[in-house]
Amino acid sequence: MNLVLFGPPGAGKGTQAKILTEKRGLPQLSTGDMLRAAIAAKSELGLKVEAILARGDLVSDDIVIGIIGDRLKQADAANGAVFDGFPRTIPQAEALDRLLAANGKQIDAVIELKVDEAALLGRAEQRVQDARAQGKTPRPDDIPETVKNRLDVYRQNTAPLVEFYRLQGKLKSLDGMAPIGDVTAAIDAALG
Ligand code: AMP
Repeated sequence: MNLVLFGPPGAGKGTQAKILTEKRGLPQLSTGDMLRAAIAAKSELGLKVEAILARGDLVSDDIVIGIIGDRLKQADAANGAVFDGFPRTIPQAEALDRLLAANGKQIDAVIELKVDEAALLGRAEQRVQDARAQGKTPRPDDIPETVKNRLDVYRQNTAPLVEFYRLQGKLKSLDGMAPIGDVTAAIDAALG
């Protein structure tokens, strides 16, 4: 099963993706995690994208499509995957359809986590505080100004995917403001 978890930054995609991977034995394919790993490793890719992530802008479609294309070749993705933070633009969604179709596969469902924007800013602030409390460095893109930019970028580039997947009959929209366990239950119910 290939699933897309979809929603604005801070909607809880990563949390639900981890739960889904444990329950269904599917790998979590998070382009954000892959890009952060490249930055931490100071690889050529990491150096190229570091400032883009820090600003909360989108990395080019070519880069993320390339990363996902490579990742899908690994054996653990043979039976499906949970896509977290990808696709984020229409060209990425079209590329994902092509990549899967090349192996006779398709996206089976798209789970949209609907959330309130004011709450998202609060959640990001909470993540910054939690990281500091644990003696860790907060994600630079969780600072309020950058979160606002990430939300603008989401509205402009990513929100149109709702219609793209609705037209494909794959969209399942859920209340992402509910407690984590309730969201998980709603996802299970939506997937049948
Ligand atoms: P995330 O952890 O999914 O919130 O992603 C963190 C950051 O990585 C985003 O703000 C973007 O700068 C970049 N990024 C992650 N996924 C993508 C994507 N599919 N397309 C473009 N940029 C991405």
